[in-house]
Amino acid sequence: MSGNLPASLLRQFAAVVGPTHVLTGDAAAGYAVDWTGGFTGHAPAVLRPGGTAEVAALLGLCADAGVAVVPQGGNTGLAGGGVPLHREVVLSLARLDRLSPVDLDAGQVSAGAGVSLQQVADADPGLDLGVFIASRHSATVGGAVATNAGGLRVLRYGPMRAQLRGIEAVLSDGTVLSHMSGLVKDNTGYDYPSLLAGSEGTLAVITAARLQLVPRMTDPVTVIVGADSPGEAHALARRAVWEVGGLHSAEFFTQVGLELLVEHAGLTLPLRPPTPAYLLLEAAGPGAAEELAELAGDRPAAVGTGAAERARLWACRERHPEAAGFMGVPLKLDVSVPAARWVRLASEVAGVVAEADPGARVIIYGHVADGNLHVNVVPGADRAGEAGTAAGDGRHEDAVFSFVASLGGSISAEHGIGALKARWLPLVRSDAERALFARLRAAFDPAGILNPHVLPR
Ligand SMILES: Cc1cc2nc3c(=O)[nH]c(=O)nc-3n(C[C@H](O)[C@H](O)[C@H](O)COP(=O)(O)OP(=O)(O)OC[C@H]3O[C@@H](n4cnc5c(N)ncnc54)[C@H](O)[C@@H]3O)c2cc1C
Repeated sequence: MSGNLPASLLRQFAAVVGPTHVLTGDAAAGYAVDWTGGFTGHAPAVLRPGGTAEVAALLGLCADAGVAVVPQGGNTGLAGGGVPLHREVVLSLARLDRLSPVDLDAGQVSAGAGVSLQQVADADPGLDLGVFIASRHSATVGGAVATNAGGLRVLRYGPMRAQLRGIEAVLSDGTVLSHMSGLVKDNTGYDYPSLLAGSEGTLAVITAARLQLVPRMTDPVTVIVGADSPGEAHALARRAVWEVGGLHSAEFFTQVGLELLVEHAGLTLPLRPPTPAYLLLEAAGPGAAEELAELAGDRPAAVGTGAAERARLWACRERHPEAAGFMGVPLKLDVSVPAARWVRLASEVAGVVAEADPGARVIIYGHVADGNLHVNVVPGADRAGEAGTAAGDGRHEDAVFSFVASLGGSISAEHGIGALKARWLPLVRSDAERALFARLRAAFDPAGILNPHVLPR
């Protein structure tokens, strides 16, 4: 026995993938803890298939044995959905790393689930992946589709679902679905690739995706504009969306997070004197520099056109996911609200958290043009050690998610429901919607073995 798995099942797994790709004990431990360190489980086995047929065979074995499975890609997910919190078997898709040559006629590429987003972005010198996230060197195609990853260019290209032109996936009974022709127009029935985008490993295991690529930016310009308040940053971002034709990104952060990065990560302040809030804008193409300069007006601003200077400015925003980690184990609450209510959310959320836990520290940042705000909470001393775990008392999540729901927002803008938010799904999804989710789920995964604790039934 390994954990709670019979030795005979482990031998069957090994017969499919080879013994070196069935990991147990210490070799499996790294797959059981998430990026934040807030979710730690136990994997009785980690299975590392090398192809779609092996995925199908392994799922068939797990379904027959009634063994629950957590699919895992790069393990950069921030909702605790990719780690075995209930002693599930981990199915690592990392070895599905085949990247086909780029189809230049269509501007598309087919990628195995284990290919990193950066590898897709690097596939052709003139093309790029529309989804751009700070974890792109580790996050995989399978994980990004499964979470419908968003990131820093959603305002221009949409989230991962919008890049999907086809999918290959395996159902829990071992059935392989493949629709990878890449057709832009294809109204031949249900769009199940879109349904799998954001399904968080609960409907099928994604083994490959066909992705639309976008033109690589030419002459990009990055600017950080200082603002007195979230409201000023938001108003500028709204104007940028309408007035800057080549706009790719509009990102918000505050001096609170930046100070931590300056102190602990060696970053330098982009503006002196510092301002309470910042808006990072990036645009490309003819006239971008002039349009951004006109928008910034006489506000304090730092401009980068060369690669090194742009990278220095981007670090101020891209390293924000690390900032709260310097104070403790953070709760990562990624939320969104209608555009008209974003300023209220950004201005009031720290006070809402303080009412629940006066000792908590809050850092906010996010993709302001998408109505998104990342609310990172490091609980006060009385809850130290419990933050981000299923064992937490949930008062911080209660406070933030109830506030967001009262503003007509979503408790997950990007990262998914995972384990972190499962309890709060009824705040934003009706009984009828959740009943439909359950019926869809039963159709795709009748054995109920795929990520059973994510997106509760
Ligand atoms: C520094 C940092 C910055 C980030 N920035 C962003 C951001 O801007 N925007 C954003 O959206 N996210 C962001 N994330 C979150 C994360 O990177 C994304 O959710 C990413 O898409 C997860 O990919 P992964 O391969 O690491 O998936 P994992 O973490 O391995 O898995 C995530 C979920 O997908 C499921 N899954 C994984 N692979 C498959 C598969 N092949 N088939 C079926 N289900 C699967 C898992 O079961 C789990 O539920 C960030 C994370 C970090 C650490």
